[in-house]
Amino acid sequence: MRLALERLFRVLHRGGLMHQDSSLPTLDYPLAPTPRVAVLGAAFRAETGVYSLPQWTPERLTQLRPLALAGSWAELAKAARMVQRGELALPGLLYPLVVLTPAGDAPLSQREHLQLWDWFGLPAWEQIRGQDGKLLAVECEARNGFHLAPGVDVDHLDGWLDADECDCAQRKPRYRLAAEKALAAAGD
Ligand SMILES: [Zn+2]
Repeated sequence: MRLALERLFRVLHRGGLMHQDSSLPTLDYPLAPTPRVAVLGAAFRAETGVYSLPQWTPERLTQLRPLALAGSWAELAKAARMVQRGELALPGLLYPLVVLTPAGDAPLSQREHLQLWDWFGLPAWEQIRGQDGKLLAVECEARNGFHLAPGVDVDHLDGWLDADECDCAQRKPRYRLAAEKALAAAGD
């Protein structure tokens, strides 16, 4: 039994499905318990429901039968195009997508949110991540800007806190990313 388990662990490690390293960031999926989430193109701490696929193929992803996806816009777009071409089947997707956006990059535009809806038929929640993958800010559940992640200081990001507290359940000040303003100026 023990031998079988060890073999299984080796296979999972080799397959990139398990990342036990506690230095890895946590995914912080917006719902609990976390459904089976495949994280595309990034490594997160192996917590219940979180399966990281830093390098992934359509076969590996199909095999995992994910109920949700997380990844950068580019990774999610890549998966969507594979589905469109019939190279990938993701029939089990049921839970919101998580879009991982590097700090400093423009957050998703309205058009990109709609595009994700078009591709997957699921809402997406955006997370702003630092260079080390650390969670810096999460999209407000009322879709009204962002809220800083617990313990994150205003100086960690390029933006500012709104004076008013948000009317969502968090009752915290809204955080405005400087990159959001650039997006608004571009008329998107
Ligand atoms: Zn809010």
